[in-house]
Amino acid sequence: MQHPDPHSHYDSSQPKARRLRLKLRVDFNARRIDGEVVLEFGGMMSGPLDLDTKGLEIRSVQVPGHGPIRWELGPVDPILGQRLRLEVPEGTQEVAVAYGTAPDAMALQWLSPEQTEGKAAPFLFSQCQQIHARTMVPCQDTPLVRIAYTAEVNVPEGLTAVMSAGPTGQEALGNGRHVFRFLMPQPIPSYLLALAVGRLEARDLSPRARVWAEPETVAAAAWEFAGVEEMILKAEGLFGPYPWDRYDMLVLPPSFPYGGMENPRMTFLTPTLLAGDRSLVDVVAHELAHSWTGNLVTNASMEHFWLNEGFTVWAERRILRILHGDDAAALGWAMGQKALEDSLDQFKSEPQLTVLRMHLEGIDPDDAFSSIPYEKGARLVAALEREVGEERFLRFLRDYMDAFRFTSITTEQFCSFVGTKLPGALEAVNAKAYLDQPGMPDTAPEFRSVQLDTLTVLAESWPDGGRPSARQIAAWKPTELLVYLQKLPRRLTPADCAWLDEHFQLMGRGNYEILVEWLTLAANADYEPAFPRIREVLLRVGRMKYLRPLYGALGQHGRTRALAREIFAAASPGYHGLSRRVVQGVLDKNPA
Ligand SMILES: [Zn+2]
Repeated sequence: MQHPDPHSHYDSSQPKARRLRLKLRVDFNARRIDGEVVLEFGGMMSGPLDLDTKGLEIRSVQVPGHGPIRWELGPVDPILGQRLRLEVPEGTQEVAVAYGTAPDAMALQWLSPEQTEGKAAPFLFSQCQQIHARTMVPCQDTPLVRIAYTAEVNVPEGLTAVMSAGPTGQEALGNGRHVFRFLMPQPIPSYLLALAVGRLEARDLSPRARVWAEPETVAAAAWEFAGVEEMILKAEGLFGPYPWDRYDMLVLPPSFPYGGMENPRMTFLTPTLLAGDRSLVDVVAHELAHSWTGNLVTNASMEHFWLNEGFTVWAERRILRILHGDDAAALGWAMGQKALEDSLDQFKSEPQLTVLRMHLEGIDPDDAFSSIPYEKGARLVAALEREVGEERFLRFLRDYMDAFRFTSITTEQFCSFVGTKLPGALEAVNAKAYLDQPGMPDTAPEFRSVQLDTLTVLAESWPDGGRPSARQIAAWKPTELLVYLQKLPRRLTPADCAWLDEHFQLMGRGNYEILVEWLTLAANADYEPAFPRIREVLLRVGRMKYLRPLYGALGQHGRTRALAREIFAAASPGYHGLSRRVVQGVLDKNPA
């Protein structure tokens, strides 16, 4: 018995599934998917086969042509769920499992019509990363097993289903139900299985890119993301031809817990990116870059998550630099620096979670989630790039993509590849300090620009009366204002807040990065005029990136602590399970 992934019951002495055939019937009333999955092995197999499940009701297990076979669910593990062991007879090529999902399946969020923009129909979306695919489908839920898949999704008439796959047809069943069919021909890790069902419309952005959203949002989404084809072209310049055929995007209702999720062929996005001025499209650059770093070359387990995220953050900023210049990239790195410092602070009593090569046996990967694999990882990638020079590093990247395409690798495999292709580089940048030591190495690369320095000096002069001039206030782009706000002292007075709001009109901002940074400052300052807007944002948006700092800042004062609890009581039924857990964790740190 060998378990190479601490977050899966997958046994590497058993065969890997090669392909899944899914039949999913979506029942909004029961908040349940009734599913059947056929696991194909691409050859004969027999003996025990261990699958991951969590909260699933297993109804039957069959081998086609053979009939029902023996199966057994193991004890419940709070992180891993339950092992489903099948006893597979001699000569088996595929097994079929019929099952139902639990109403509280972590991968699935069921929204009532009121929780959508249109308020006309319910909505369902999945989020399988980190290890939640097993709450939607019994499978070998580890990136070490890559699967192609086909799917038939049965939904109520009038609703549309999309998946991390290409559509292959649809038909009305005439009984108030409609079937959508999909094919994902390339092998993907299970965490990239994805499904959404709702009232959806699409707009084409280029011959290979399209955006989906609720009808109420689709025009705004098409405008905001109109530049995506240009981004795809720039990303191809870095990594080589786009490997997934189409790049479509889906804008979800506001409870989506992440900024984006790189589901192949169908990136999922938060509607908080619809700033109305295209100022937040760096998240699209990020998800797009995952098409190579993450989806094509994948971390072997969540212990090597930095291989996905570090490379992707580096690539996101590289794309922004090509599109918008050095200053824009430097501001991106500065915002990342803030996120990195916040995460180092968040884990100051658990420094073992600030290394890149993590040891997560017995640890829920959602609890270990932070900006560290993203930002510390990106700094290691940038350090390597600086060490060997841009051109040589780009050639290395192409080789890396070629060598590991459609595979899932460990940090050790990465290091040994770098050792061969860029001998001495890991030692020169002291990679060990990033991979295995907590905190940030002193030698980490810095990213500076004149504009960034100006913003920093000005913000740091706030306590001495330094204020931006009218000309600066009028000229700053959204990212410049955001970096300025991030660099301000964390403890402002209510009078400081009033000044900022008056001069920057912060309360009415549609750019959520700016709005939430401002509201966090205001909550820190116990600034009462901001309370209604804080309430409004926390009731509407479930993106964890915003909930964590806002609820955290509300924990600083007696009356804001009470406010936080009151808002959470009202908002939590509308939050995704992941978001609810994060907020509960923050509130527990600041008892009433
Ligand atoms: Zn990412």
